[in-house]
Amino acid sequence: MTARLLDGKALAQAVRAETKIAIEAFRAERGRVPGLDVVLVGDDPGSVVYTRNKEAASKEVGMRGRLHKLSASTSEHDLKALVRELNADPDVDGILVQLPLPKHIAPVPVLDLIEAGKDVDGFHPMNAGLLALGREGAIVACTPAGCMRLIALTDVKLDGARAVVVGRSNTVGKPVSQLLLAANATVTMAHSRTRDLAAVCREADVLVAAVGRAEMVRGEWIKPGAVVIDVGVNRIVAADGKARLVGDVAFEEAREVAGFISPVPGGVGPMTIAMLLSNTLQAARNRARASK
Ligand code: NDP
Repeated sequence: MTARLLDGKALAQAVRAETKIAIEAFRAERGRVPGLDVVLVGDDPGSVVYTRNKEAASKEVGMRGRLHKLSASTSEHDLKALVRELNADPDVDGILVQLPLPKHIAPVPVLDLIEAGKDVDGFHPMNAGLLALGREGAIVACTPAGCMRLIALTDVKLDGARAVVVGRSNTVGKPVSQLLLAANATVTMAHSRTRDLAAVCREADVLVAAVGRAEMVRGEWIKPGAVVIDVGVNRIVAADGKARLVGDVAFEEAREVAGFISPVPGGVGPMTIAMLLSNTLQAARNRARASK
């Protein structure tokens, strides 16, 4: 069997196109466009690219995108002051503080300070809590939301399906597990202490790998016909000396066994930014409704 590819680039393009149309409708009704403010502290090369892409993507769909570039020596006090300012600004609907922050700034107190309704990353305890409680109104973390959209492209019925999520981070593993549970899958969350991980993975009708270890999940770990979502992004140097990105799943082996598989790059990655735009629109709508 050769798995069908889950094309995150094409799906992300479709989500962005939908979001653009909805933003135009929002503007017509409200007389303003949603605003996304991205905060970058320092000059980590990956973060510079990610934040620039987020700013550009928000403008492309017709939002007001703004990038705040702060020096690496910015104090936690000054960063928090900016977050408070953005919280109070009525034109700001979404605030994203790019991680990682420089070592001298603890991320949790900064992220917790972002008003929950403007937390378009979905990392605030209020949003994480609403999701965990299965309540309406949570802003769902972008990467997990993107994984669910990719799964929705397949013919798998999540109701009653066995899902295994490898990785239990607060940003990916836990929220994606909760979304799968909310869709009535029977969910196993695996992690670095899980015994016989291969056997656990082989039970999965839906396998989500969010580990950060290049090609750890082998083809023989996959149940024939399963849906495989590869969240991992790992830079490796190939035999030819060239650097390339690979996922947490050994793609060439896995595609011979799986029914559907998301590639790296071009799978989950593009969905993350698309869902950020969608979350910002949701935040703007929620705020508009609340102010009525
Ligand atoms: P974290 O490092 O926060 O979490 C990794 C998880 O993997 C932990 O729960 C850890 O277990 C588990 N783990 C580590 N080693 C093993 C192992 N040998 N066997 C089983 N489980 C293991 O990573 P993130 O969740 O933030 O990210 C995971 C991957 O996804 C990374 O490659 C990251 O770059 C990528 N990513 C991609 C995004 C995208 O947009 N495409 C967005 C976000 C992340 P334990 O808890 O026991 O330590």
